[in-house]
Amino acid sequence: MSEKHGSTPTVLISRRGADRLRAGHVWVYRSDVVEAEGVQPGAVVLVQEKTGSSAATSLNKNVRATRAAVILGSAFYSTASEIAIRMISRKPVGDLEQLVRERVRAAVTYRERFVQDTNAYRVVFSEGDFLPGLIVDRYNDVLSFQVLTQAMDSEEMRSAFLSELQSAVSPAAIVERVDPRVRRLEQLPEKESGLISGSKSATEFEMNGVRFVFKALGGQKTGAFLDQRENYSAAAQYARGEALDVFCYQGGFGLHLARSCEKVTGVDSSRPALEIAEQNAALNGREIEWIEANAFDLLRDYSDAGRQYDCIVLDPPAFAKSRRDLPTALRGYKELNLRALKMLRPSGILVTCSCSYHVGVSDLLEVLSSAAQDSHRIIRILENRGQAKDHPTVLGIPETAYLKCVIAHVSQ
Ligand code: SAH
Repeated sequence: MSEKHGSTPTVLISRRGADRLRAGHVWVYRSDVVEAEGVQPGAVVLVQEKTGSSAATSLNKNVRATRAAVILGSAFYSTASEIAIRMISRKPVGDLEQLVRERVRAAVTYRERFVQDTNAYRVVFSEGDFLPGLIVDRYNDVLSFQVLTQAMDSEEMRSAFLSELQSAVSPAAIVERVDPRVRRLEQLPEKESGLISGSKSATEFEMNGVRFVFKALGGQKTGAFLDQRENYSAAAQYARGEALDVFCYQGGFGLHLARSCEKVTGVDSSRPALEIAEQNAALNGREIEWIEANAFDLLRDYSDAGRQYDCIVLDPPAFAKSRRDLPTALRGYKELNLRALKMLRPSGILVTCSCSYHVGVSDLLEVLSSAAQDSHRIIRILENRGQAKDHPTVLGIPETAYLKCVIAHVSQ
């Protein structure tokens, strides 16, 4: 049985796990959990380093002995995830509900200070806001949230963050968005997406002066890639002439490019996404050509046919879901970028993105460099960008930085 500290169970972790926490991370993997017997799914636990390993030298033992009493903080425990522990505080927490309310308020204040030109943004970014397992997006007057962990799904946590969101943001409605796969993996009971408060689940939102429809529920759910919001306006600043938005989804880049380009074509394999893209175009009084196609096939056909553009955006889905996928993913990025480079007119603009955490910015630049060599192009990097500020990157938690967006000038 694990040690108890009051009624809060204590979980013992290995030195490797503890070192990771001391370096600023908030996760401990199951392989670094030494003792957590009987700890319930989603429990709040105290985390402590297991000391006194027999393999330690006497010097190490002394070092460890001084640490023995040190509690590394309070955390959420998951019995299902490989990430067994997600720290919520570096100190033992007395009133967790109070802490969660404070964190929600701090997250809202952070956005009020740093987010501009939009009424759609991520209000809570899980670990990025020290609220592990909670994502909250604001689309104008509707909040949409998702819980990703056992602990965040508890009645106490839900009522704490929901009541605080209600008072801090005063939305017309709050909608829960369920990802059945996430709930299965986390061994949470099945549930449907639905309205939690208020009565509207559809609205319109605006970013950088571009309007979008939003439907949280029903057949064609919408929502935006809010993390690209600042990249949209950055890209639009350089784009002109004829633009091709590849992997356009509901038109995020394309609608922004339409402000500075004469002609915009968006490509995606999802028809429902393109139907929303068309509604968004109409809302903004724009004419954009939407093409339902496999991007790889279309780029091959178009580049073989000698089609040319002045601006090409590549924003594919995450090709590398795990480190194992990296070589395949890099081949995918290489092919897309090579085709795009060949299709750009002199002085063209390439906007190339990767949202795979496992593909680092240096990997993406290497792919780009090798595609430039193969296509005999010269690339000048105009901007090397990441995710928008409402998706904060925390130093020490590398997983909070995942989006890369390189804007480049391409010449012969
Ligand atoms: N650029 C978009 C987000 C793109 S998300 C925005 O800013 O809103 C990735 C998109 O790629 C999804 O819309 C998905 O439908 C599409 N997609 C995935 N595989 C594809 C393929 N092989 N060909 C074309 N589109 C694809």
